[in-house]
Amino acid sequence: MERSKNSEQRPQFWQVARRCCQLAAIVDIAFFAIFMALDSPILAWVNVVSVAMYAWAFYAFGQRQNGLAIVLVWTEVLVHSALGIILIGWDSGFHYYLLMFIPALAVTMRLGYAIILLVLLWAYYVGLYATSLYFAPLQPISAEALIGVNVFNLSVVFGMFSYLGFIYVRTVSSANRKLNRLASTDGLTLLHNRRHLTELTEAEITRSERYEKPMSVLLIDIDHFKLINDLFGHLKGDEVLQHLAKLIRMELRQHDLIGRWGGEEFLVVLPETDITTAEQVAERIRAAISSFNWSDNLKKDMTVTLSIGVSQLAPNETLNRILNRADKALYISKSCGRNRVTRLEK
Ligand code: GH3
Ligand code: MG
Ligand code: MG
Repeated sequence: MERSKNSEQRPQFWQVARRCCQLAAIVDIAFFAIFMALDSPILAWVNVVSVAMYAWAFYAFGQRQNGLAIVLVWTEVLVHSALGIILIGWDSGFHYYLLMFIPALAVTMRLGYAIILLVLLWAYYVGLYATSLYFAPLQPISAEALIGVNVFNLSVVFGMFSYLGFIYVRTVSSANRKLNRLASTDGLTLLHNRRHLTELTEAEITRSERYEKPMSVLLIDIDHFKLINDLFGHLKGDEVLQHLAKLIRMELRQHDLIGRWGGEEFLVVLPETDITTAEQVAERIRAAISSFNWSDNLKKDMTVTLSIGVSQLAPNETLNRILNRADKALYISKSCGRNRVTRLEK
């Protein structure tokens, strides 16, 4: 059976499929006992073969031989359900298991193959039903036993569908959480990326205006970073960025925001902070970086300094306006010799 490329990218699905093999084997062991008790030895021994096939499929899934495992599971379910219906009748409910393939096909197959196999499955299902209408069961069991087997099969299929449903929801939510995290995080520094920080800052501006609290921002740019790259290589430059992100974070409070604003630029948002306090925070960050011992940490004798522009949110101001002012302040820091903090008030 051909596997789609997509199925290779769904490791969780194969784990679930593997777990289903375990559950199915347990169900078949129960069936062995039930059919022995019902004096139906052929069906009882069919279950021994089934358990062996599920054990093999379980092993194959573990070895990433998903194609072989799927063939084993399909063969088992198709043959087992047909035998159950031919031997003890449609009312045994062995056909319920065929329905489990509908979601499995949707997840593992490309659309075209899935449709073809679904049609074949439907034809097989209807064919079994038609056969059961024309031929009497070969090894009938009592009416009460038949009801018991039916309820058992129904319960197993209910249980398996519920289990798969919950697993599916859990897998999708965890994938969503991961995607959201990736979409809002800068891959190198693990800080907020620019898009996400913009959203958070907009919300912070609204809050500051509503509660009439001050709010300030720091625009931080590494001095002569191009030179650091040129002297020590781009990879060391990346390490400097990662270290800086951690060092700046350490100087901030829990609810302050920090993100990577550009290549070697960081934006810090300080809620409930006026420009004088913000300037002190900026000075603390600047001093911490310029006195940091890079040769101990990066095994390179380098000096890293920062230029910082500080501004405070004025009444009815937009994000762009406050950032513009911080950018002007940063420019002044650069033109006055770098490694310094400049505040610019409205
Ligand atoms: P200035 O003091 O005027 O800011 O000088 P500068 O060299 O820091 O500024 P410039 O804008 O000329 O150069 C920024 C450099 O930052 C150039 C670019 O290669 C480097 N850079 C940007 N993003 C990354 C990154 O992700 N990793 C590394 N290693 N370097 C980066
Ligand atoms: Mg820059
Ligand atoms: Mg720079």
